[in-house]
Amino acid sequence: MTTDYGKLTWEEVRDADKDRVVILNVSATEDHGRHMPLDTDTVLGMAVANGVAERMPDEVFVMPPVAYGFNEHHKDFPGVIWIQPETLIAFVTDITKSLAHHGFRRMLLLNSHGSNHSVLDLAARKTVIETGAICVSASYWNLCADRINEHRKSETGGIAHACEFEAAIYMHLHPDLVDLGKATPQVVHDPGSRFFNLDLARGGGKAMLMRWWSEVSPDGTMGDPTVADAGTGAKFLQAAIEETAALVREIRALPILQRKDHH
Ligand SMILES: [Zn+2]
Repeated sequence: MTTDYGKLTWEEVRDADKDRVVILNVSATEDHGRHMPLDTDTVLGMAVANGVAERMPDEVFVMPPVAYGFNEHHKDFPGVIWIQPETLIAFVTDITKSLAHHGFRRMLLLNSHGSNHSVLDLAARKTVIETGAICVSASYWNLCADRINEHRKSETGGIAHACEFEAAIYMHLHPDLVDLGKATPQVVHDPGSRFFNLDLARGGGKAMLMRWWSEVSPDGTMGDPTVADAGTGAKFLQAAIEETAALVREIRALPILQRKDHH
């Protein structure tokens, strides 16, 4: 049986193992510097999801992605398509409620765009409340942050957006679609700050401020794509796939618990 949800027939859905983990990638369509395409977050997120499916073909299904996200703060850059967070929560929970209606009990909202993180956390919580299914949210770089740091060349601040991490993986997948000749480093991390950390692989900040993107980045980049290479990208992607597969295994093993109303 295929792991590609869109290629299933309705009878295959009816007869499928409902403890398979259904993976939904939610990404964004937005500027990624002068050197990378608008679809970066979707290409990378789906590479992780499909890589997991290749490793565990009997344990997951991969949904068609939601290729738009919460990114109105990017709209000074041409090409950005933004979705209001309330809309995105409602849209994603309509997908998860549909899956629960068909009997699926285990879902993973796999995020590949920074600002979706808290939106998908809420969507997953709403899914649990409204369906009783297990619904987990995770941003894929968080799952493999330690291993990113083993392989990276950039200093803290080098991995944020259209950065060493994203450029390297995209170069590994489609070398013809990344033009490092147009890339410039934009490291805005302030090592003197105790609370703001603008590096995705180094823990994130204790406090959060998301400014208008055009206030902090002249070309849409945040981080250092100039040190990216395809070989490191292959290692980043392998780490992301392996760690996401490990999470899927844990989700498969989670017990289905029963509520108890203590009124
Ligand atoms: Zn991105």
